[in-house]
Amino acid sequence: MAEIRDILDLANENGFTKAIEMEVSSVLLNPEVRKMCATNKCQMYDTNWACPPGCGTLEECEAKVAKYKHGVLVQTTGELEDSFDFEGMEELKQKHDESFSNFVDQLYNLKVKMLPLGDGCCQICKKCTYPDEKCRFPEKAFSSMEAFGILVSDLCKLNNVDYYYGKNTLTYVGCVLFD
Ligand code: SF4
Repeated sequence: MAEIRDILDLANENGFTKAIEMEVSSVLLNPEVRKMCATNKCQMYDTNWACPPGCGTLEECEAKVAKYKHGVLVQTTGELEDSFDFEGMEELKQKHDESFSNFVDQLYNLKVKMLPLGDGCCQICKKCTYPDEKCRFPEKAFSSMEAFGILVSDLCKLNNVDYYYGKNTLTYVGCVLFD
């Protein structure tokens, strides 16, 4: 079993602006959130093992979550010039994705059995093997929280951490559940 203190330290070393211990019981899978994936606004639906329908039904996702007892929630918050600062939003997203991907990689190298849930779908491989071959890295592939039906604002609230940090700020969120 991994020690929570070590995992929090590792998260902090990866540049997140916040890393806290979270309750696995706060991971509530909402079919309405999951349904939004099918509208395919992100154009990833049915293209990746970590996105619906490849990541399994909501019941299967629930069974995956139920295997874990501990969790760490991470955030990357940044300031934007204004609400039209799309470049700033993209830069912040890239920063969060890089931190999250490094964090997951390090946990994988430490052989931590985990379920990572990020912001956006798995981009470990340049081209996902979906649907023709099995996932190359099932132990570290990560779905988005939305793919699992998680309402991110609720998850933050249930874990007593802010999601909104004031005007012209933006926050990206991820979590890792582990044994
Ligand atoms: S690890 Fe590779 S094959 Fe597996 S879901 Fe991610 S991109 Fe697809």
